Amino acid sequence: MIPGVTWSQLNKKLKSYGLFFSVNPGADATLGGMAATNTSGTPAVKYGVMKEQVTSLEVALPNRNIFHTGTQAAKSSSGYHLNSLFEGAEGTVGCITKLTLHVYGIPETIVAGRYLSVI
Ligand SMILES: Cc1cc2nc3c(=O)[nH]c(=O)nc-3n(C[C@H](O)[C@H](O)[C@H](O)COP(=O)(O)OP(=O)(O)OC[C@H]3O[C@@H](n4cnc5c(N)ncnc54)[C@H](O)[C@@H]3O)c2cc1C
Repeated sequence: MIPGVTWSQLNKKLKSYGLFFSVNPGADATLGGMAATNTSGTPAVKYGVMKEQVTSLEVALPNRNIFHTGTQAAKSSSGYHLNSLFEGAEGTVGCITKLTLHVYGIPETIVAGRYLSVI
């Protein structure tokens, strides 16, 4: 995914495949900016925050090298976890130029509840 795409643009495209991207910070924001700020939002309670949705990144480093983090494999226990170096770093370590993200199936039903306390 290219970093200038916004989460709402991504969700418009994913809808026809029955999929959605779970991070929703309320305001519209780009995927690159969301990774750079480790955005959350209400659905993070169920699905996790932005850094939990990023499988791998392509990053342009200040020395002009292009650097790749992560793999497609779920295994995360071997080697450095370099995604975390760039997530939440606000672009100070490098410029995110591509992201690979987790997406989910749109739930068949969504139910919301509210607790009212009467004093
Ligand atoms: C009304 C409102 C409500 C919000 N609610 C929430 C909320 O509920 N939860 C929450 O977590 N956040 C919330 N936010 C914050 C929001 O998540 C961030 O402002 C947003 O994710 C930043 O994305 P952006 O595209 O606007 O990035 P920008 O504002 O353009 O950039 C943000 C930072 O990321 C860096 N950056 C941008 N793109 C890249 C890139 N490609 N590579 C490296 N660095 C980059 C910039 O240099 C900057 O430091 C809210 C913001 C607003 C305005």
